[in-house]
Amino acid sequence: MALIVQKYGGSSVADAESIKRVAKRIVDTRRAGHDVVVAVSAMGDTTDELLDLANEVAPIPAPRELDMLLSSGERISMALLAMAIHSMGFEARSFTGSQAGMITDSQHGAARIVDVTPVRLREALDEGAIVIVAGFQGFNRDTRDITTLGRGGSDTTAVALAAALDADVCEIYSDVDGIFTADPRVIPKAQKLDHVSSEEMLELAANGAKVLYIRAVEYARRHGVLIHARSTFSSSEGTYVLGEGMKNPRESEGAAMEEPIVAGVATDFGQAKITVAGVPDVPGKAAEIFKIVAKSGANVDMIVQNVSATGRTDISFTVPKADASAALKALAGDQAEVGFASLVHDDQIGKLSVVGAGMRTHSGVSATLFEALSDAGINIEMISTSEIRISVVLRDSDLAEAARTVHTAYGLDGEAEATVHAGTGR
Ligand code: ASP
Ligand code: MG
Repeated sequence: MALIVQKYGGSSVADAESIKRVAKRIVDTRRAGHDVVVAVSAMGDTTDELLDLANEVAPIPAPRELDMLLSSGERISMALLAMAIHSMGFEARSFTGSQAGMITDSQHGAARIVDVTPVRLREALDEGAIVIVAGFQGFNRDTRDITTLGRGGSDTTAVALAAALDADVCEIYSDVDGIFTADPRVIPKAQKLDHVSSEEMLELAANGAKVLYIRAVEYARRHGVLIHARSTFSSSEGTYVLGEGMKNPRESEGAAMEEPIVAGVATDFGQAKITVAGVPDVPGKAAEIFKIVAKSGANVDMIVQNVSATGRTDISFTVPKADASAALKALAGDQAEVGFASLVHDDQIGKLSVVGAGMRTHSGVSATLFEALSDAGINIEMISTSEIRISVVLRDSDLAEAARTVHTAYGLDGEAEATVHAGTGR
């Protein structure tokens, strides 16, 4: 008998039928003799709809009230799920984040978990109940207010519960079968991975893979939680995300001994490029520019500085599309002080990343990428690397083709087309 934490995303509980299907899965797990704790997201697009409503009544909704509002989405799904389980003859009890002991800091809308005290969950489990917890929310001890963890926060709720309860596994259910070598919506020949290391998963998630949230993977890595990403719509096993020193539960089934060099290819359409042109090529200018950008709240990803011939240079960087206008506004405001000539905004870019822990020990990985792009006649605009990742910025219209070409070049193509069940990968 194991303790299993399961997380179901919004698309898995979008309507009454889906809730009943999820309830059945939970009951099946319970029938198999396991203790089950479930973290659940709000139904379908509830969170977005609540956000829209808030914006209709107030241009800038008060953060405390926004968290009160948004946290209600998960309360609806948790109660419905518990009811559905009851009607199948099993005992289930739902808990809000604060009842579950999800203690966070006080930052509304982006709260971080500081402690988990699942006393009531333990009691319920001891009494034989299935435990359902509202995802995405917590409670701050100082302000005594409800907080939310940021979009997609239910993954983090599930992992934090798994850590606090010392669960055997944290199963994260979504509408895809697991972690793929690429987004199957972009590359139909993408293959499901048997397992992926948490450091690879972090790079994939940070570079556009949407199947798991980065904070949840980080939390799992830090607390030694085994994640199993799998689909609500099929009973096939998904992908294990293995932290350092963790054993693959399927190892005995004869999984490959040698790890592939490249785990996957990630695509990101969400970045924009800003070029600060005609920057005086003297010490301190990059510091000035990126201080301004940081103050605007924009999160810089790649940076490229051109060589200067005339004592002036161009500095280009990428930020999430949503951050671009704030960064541009801030820079324009300080143009005279910094002394640059002009700003160029380009939101027609796409980022392609190749991730694999094998890059540490194998040479020629980047050469394969560049050659594949060159053969396809695709121009590279920016390049950046980490120890286990190579990323390039391209025209967004080239990104899908580039990803397919590169996926083939690394030998990642599968025989059959991947099944895409529904939705957006959440
Ligand atoms: N309902 C929240 C959201 O849509 C949290 C989650 O789904 O994980 O962002
Ligand atoms: Mg959601």
